[in-house]
Amino acid sequence: MPRPIFATIHLDSMQYNLAQARSYAPMSRVWAVVKANAYGHGLERAMRGFATADGLALVETEGALQLRTSGWIKPILLLEGFFDASDIPLLAEHNINSAVHNIEQVKMLEYTQLYRPIDVHLKMNTGMNRLGFRPDEYAAAYKRLRAIPGVRNITHMTHFANADELEHPRLTIAEQVRRFRFGAGELPGERSLSNSGGVLHQPDLGDALSNDWVRPGIMLYGGTPGGRAAADYGLRPTMTLRSEVIGIQELQAGDTVGYGSRFVADGPMTVGVVACGYADGYPRHAPHGTPVIVDGVRTTLVGRVSMDMMTVDLTPVRNPRIGSKVLLWGDGLPIDEVASSAGTIGYELMCALAGRVRVTEG
Ligand code: PLP
Repeated sequence: MPRPIFATIHLDSMQYNLAQARSYAPMSRVWAVVKANAYGHGLERAMRGFATADGLALVETEGALQLRTSGWIKPILLLEGFFDASDIPLLAEHNINSAVHNIEQVKMLEYTQLYRPIDVHLKMNTGMNRLGFRPDEYAAAYKRLRAIPGVRNITHMTHFANADELEHPRLTIAEQVRRFRFGAGELPGERSLSNSGGVLHQPDLGDALSNDWVRPGIMLYGGTPGGRAAADYGLRPTMTLRSEVIGIQELQAGDTVGYGSRFVADGPMTVGVVACGYADGYPRHAPHGTPVIVDGVRTTLVGRVSMDMMTVDLTPVRNPRIGSKVLLWGDGLPIDEVASSAGTIGYELMCALAGRVRVTEG
């Protein structure tokens, strides 16, 4: 028997969440974002779970090629574009769209002779200050790109910094949209603005977000970018992480648990040792009080998470035993809740799922 740590990927929920994204943004085509191994879910699985997406977007060139080899024939977009001129003919050959966000990429396209045209997403930096041309230099970049014979369609793209918060005090979606309009003006081409936060707020923002393409990621995996529960948005979890109790200790007042002896029992209690640690992807910094469910009963983590194990309070669980089932996150315990307790975000937990965890579909 393998060590009892299992992840289940719910392909039907991936499909369902994609349909939800479409209902939030009915006028837009959807790039399902599948970077970082589809947020830890597996690229090939994402290809099946998001089979009805209009395209798949990621940042890994090898991943894009793998999608083509695996039979994905619809559009693919590299969100960071190419990293070397030698990749450009490869992208053109496999009909892979590329973001273009800096002047070096424009130059590389200028001196690459292409026998097949390439479609690009020209990226504007509207305040995120990661990738993209500033609004005042955007039209010039567009003009240079437009003059390259090998470049076919140019889509205008930007990325929201605070799409989960409509009224962010420093930078609102509305302000980024205003800058985007200023920079892209009436330039011909389709538009792509929204990530999950933008998609979920699309109904509130109405026409302000006229996306031809939206680019949801986390919502497709049943998480949210902000504080609100995914279920409130009608989203379903797509990754469930389960383990089992592999040891039980009866503690007395004053006994401590785990490395650093951080947890001290204030009375008699039962502690369960669970076969899941930070080397499985569980956050090491998750504090005492982080929720877990044992045999259907909600309880909490106690003590420090170690490499292969963590300890939980079994006191509220009736008849706990070696082999008691432990739900760490997923169907029945929102990943965002666990993440928030651990001071992180659902994205990080999903992406950190370790290779040694056995993954099944269901
Ligand atoms: N678009 C771009 C350019 C991104 O970098 C990302 C992810 O960071 C997304 C879309 C998807 O974002 P989210 O997972 O918040 O929907």
